[in-house]
Amino acid sequence: MGQEIIYGKALSETILSSLPARVERAGKKLGRSPSFAVVSAPGDYAARVYRKREYEACARLGITASSFDPGDLIKDARGFISILNRLGADPGIDAVMVERPLPENLNLLKVWEHLSPGKDVDGASVINMGKLFLCKSLADVLKGGFFVSCTALAVIKLLAFAGVNPGGKRAVVIGRSGSVGRPLAHLLSCQDATVTLCHSKTRDLAEIMKGAGIIVSAVGKARWLKADMISLGVVIIDVGTNRDENGKFCGDVDFENVKGKASLISPVPGGLGPVTLACLMENIVSAAEQSAGIPKG
Ligand code: NAP
Repeated sequence: MGQEIIYGKALSETILSSLPARVERAGKKLGRSPSFAVVSAPGDYAARVYRKREYEACARLGITASSFDPGDLIKDARGFISILNRLGADPGIDAVMVERPLPENLNLLKVWEHLSPGKDVDGASVINMGKLFLCKSLADVLKGGFFVSCTALAVIKLLAFAGVNPGGKRAVVIGRSGSVGRPLAHLLSCQDATVTLCHSKTRDLAEIMKGAGIIVSAVGKARWLKADMISLGVVIIDVGTNRDENGKFCGDVDFENVKGKASLISPVPGGLGPVTLACLMENIVSAAEQSAGIPKG
């Protein structure tokens, strides 16, 4: 079987190469650099890895990046909402991203109501999420002028880059988080895939995965997806970013043993991650253009 590997670097470079001119134009209109604020989730390994890369990418593009440690305010919805309201009202901030997961005791419906949709570059707010689920086709999503989860969008872009059309295929998305699995399952259905969204309580997961044309794993468990769980010729996108027992960075997929069975497979590192980062940078630039009153191109 193929063993074709879908690397994300070329796609990410293509997306990023379109941004410097847009950053410059927005900066001129704003009279300052576009600015991005991250509400950090202290202690989360994956979030720390992403944040470092986000800062480096912002620095390369001339975007000002800052982070807010919510401290004790993260302990209850009121405190957390006060941070979001402050960032939403700050005219010096164009784009806001809240690192997830958030503590489970927070009332997420309330929290996400207070993230300003025009600054919500990871598509988490009630308005942006609602708009996504009101769309039935990818074209509707793309022309909708709202923000979508960068990771979910990156999966769709990586599949297209690899020449995979989800239309008519059976797609299995494993993981139902609001930041990845749920928006992604909807985006794949917008592309006419027939989607099964799986999670930790799914029974007969291996049975569901057999015969799938596309499998996307967004579970967060090092190398849990094994070769005997999949059928020959499937396309696999690995979203997971984990550390194995030796501290090595790896995905959800047991890559070395699975790659021989898949027709196409994205590695970790080097697969989806760079594309997600590029999608985030693109969304930040779009948010800055909105602040600057530049019409959507
Ligand atoms: P999350 O909120 O922890 O969600 C994990 C999901 O996996 C949950 O829906 C959970 O089910 C499900 N799950 C857990 N164990 C399972 C099992 N044994 N079988 C089937 N489903 C299982 O995580 P997330 O934020 O979506 O992130 C997932 C992974 O993607 C993490 O490694 C994260 O670091 C990575 N990530 C990567 C990128 C990138 O660009 N590469 C971006 C974002 C996230 P329940 O709902 O039943 O608990």
